[in-house]
Amino acid sequence: GSTIGIIGGGQLGRMLAMAAARLGYRTVVLEPQADCPAAQVANRQITAAYDDAAALAELAAASAVVTYEFENVPVAAASTLAAKVPVYPPARALEVAQDRLAEKKFLNGVGISTADFRAIDNDAELTSALKEFGGSGILKTRRLGYDGKGQRVFRNMDTGGFSGTCEAMGNVPLILESFVAFEREISVIAARGLDGSIAAYDPAENVHRDGILHTSTLPGGISHETAAAAQAAVAKVLAALDYVGVIGVEFFVLADGSLLANEMAPRVHNSGHWTEAAATVSQFEQHIRAVAGLPLGTPGRHSDCVMENLIGDDVSRVPALLAEPDLMLHLYGKAEARAGRKMGHFTRISRRS
Ligand code: ATP
Ligand code: MG
Ligand code: MG
Repeated sequence: GSTIGIIGGGQLGRMLAMAAARLGYRTVVLEPQADCPAAQVANRQITAAYDDAAALAELAAASAVVTYEFENVPVAAASTLAAKVPVYPPARALEVAQDRLAEKKFLNGVGISTADFRAIDNDAELTSALKEFGGSGILKTRRLGYDGKGQRVFRNMDTGGFSGTCEAMGNVPLILESFVAFEREISVIAARGLDGSIAAYDPAENVHRDGILHTSTLPGGISHETAAAAQAAVAKVLAALDYVGVIGVEFFVLADGSLLANEMAPRVHNSGHWTEAAATVSQFEQHIRAVAGLPLGTPGRHSDCVMENLIGDDVSRVPALLAEPDLMLHLYGKAEARAGRKMGHFTRISRRS
């Protein structure tokens, strides 16, 4: 079989490598951290920075196709690679997803609503934008935020002035989003193949704890109309980007069932981990199928389920979880259970409703 290159060696890269192996592919992982979760599974690791020119040349030479497991792959590195070997998803998807401002403009541009937003570069802009939003909003770094990091919430604040706020956020480009009083949060995991075909899983309903995904539940408590609208929105995103691979798009669901897109990840997504336990073709296999040019699998779900993340000390629950019936456990092989660190997840399945 041929070799698939994967940029990034975390748990997502590890699960991609597992799925690739099952389809008969070899994998080579580019990751600066030695003994990363993916390297325990992949055939080979190139231990170097993501933008190291020699490492990128080595990755291109070793791979029939290159993909990635995180959205902060330097766009220049993806473009350099793309001159030598197919890189999926396309670099344009990285560009859009790396910057919350570009992301919202892109989503609005293809007809998908988001929270109202303003680009913020200084405290004066923050003060006036918060005033426009009636004193409430969420200030976020435009780049590099994850698990709720790099965010500050303002609720019904006096908008007299916020000197020092932008400095406290690191003097980086920011975005203020209006505060969405959502009823629930969902995400759609979908894939687009090389032939342009699209397959979307049913939306998961997601609950966050301390800014980190806690559970994903299937089915979510949304109507068929809302589910179909979310899937249709993601299909628009995929087509507009001439996308190849799996994408995860998060939405807020309002009380009337309408949707606002929150953000998108051009990769397999934590809220899609349930697919390994409750769908015949997991998101990881689906991504490998897409980037390898194979037909997509049907995204049907054979069971209802709840996926839960194991964060930090949660790993102490493993013995009890192993004793439960109808539970699939997945650990990432990380030695140190630091606070806030994703150590694994499990999925409880039940008969399909
Ligand atoms: P992830 O780990 O999913 O990449 P992130 O750090 O990129 O997270 P967001 O998804 O933007 O952050 O926000 C984290 C959570 O904060 C959301 O899932 C939602 O619960 C809440 N949130 C974000 N933006 C808003 C908003 N505009 N209005 C209300 N709640 C919000
Ligand atoms: Mg995010
Ligand atoms: Mg998010």
